[in-house]
Amino acid sequence: MKMPVLFIGHGSPINIVEDNSYTRSLVDLGKKLPRPEVIVVVSAHWQTRGTYITAAKKPPTIYDFYGFPQALYEATYTCPGSPEQAAFVQAITQNGITCDWERGIDHAAWAVLKHMYPNADIPVLEISLDVNKSPQEHYEFGKKLAALRQEGVLIIGSGNVVHNLSRIDFSQLYGNVYSWAAETDSYIAAALVNHDHSSLINYENLPYAQVAVPTNEHYLPMLYSIALQAETDKLDFTCTDMQNGSISMRSFMISE
Ligand code: ZN
Repeated sequence: MKMPVLFIGHGSPINIVEDNSYTRSLVDLGKKLPRPEVIVVVSAHWQTRGTYITAAKKPPTIYDFYGFPQALYEATYTCPGSPEQAAFVQAITQNGITCDWERGIDHAAWAVLKHMYPNADIPVLEISLDVNKSPQEHYEFGKKLAALRQEGVLIIGSGNVVHNLSRIDFSQLYGNVYSWAAETDSYIAAALVNHDHSSLINYENLPYAQVAVPTNEHYLPMLYSIALQAETDKLDFTCTDMQNGSISMRSFMISE
């Protein structure tokens, strides 16, 4: 059986301790999906020169966010890692990826997985984003991970398709949404439904791209998810919320 592939909009770290329609969509996914052997997360929060994968046996929890309530810093996600799986991923990418034996798991992974798999008993690996790659190159690199779907590996791109931190409204999760954010999110949704990968790779041509995707580290993990979409796979949205006015929480599942 081929494992589904996810893209999850992770948004503000405050969701770690929230109960809302977004976090409930994650809880539902965790219950609904076939239980993975291993989880591989392509992280918006790990940018490197060259592509890396975490290979530590016990990856520490990274608290890569600042100024949030104390409860977020007391939350933990003590999942195992898997040096063996990291080596396997390295092999299937023909050494296109380098093992990092020290690094832990950042909140692009654990803020999501805490809701999906609260027991933290499935090995988790993270893949970085190579800052030297173009969007097209990220997409092509993502295709190299396709064989993992046959091996019980759940691949998750974790970012946000619309993400503008300078325009974020931290005072409310669910409030007024900027029209440029909502419109860009709709364009992206339509391209996803139409299997229009070319428009998604060339997102810079979208109206409002400069304000909706001002930097692309949160957008790029989505290209890894769609790169794994076979011609016959379907795509279902699992969350379509907008949060903080400028963040699309749009998340989807690709499955046979
Ligand atoms: Zn983020």
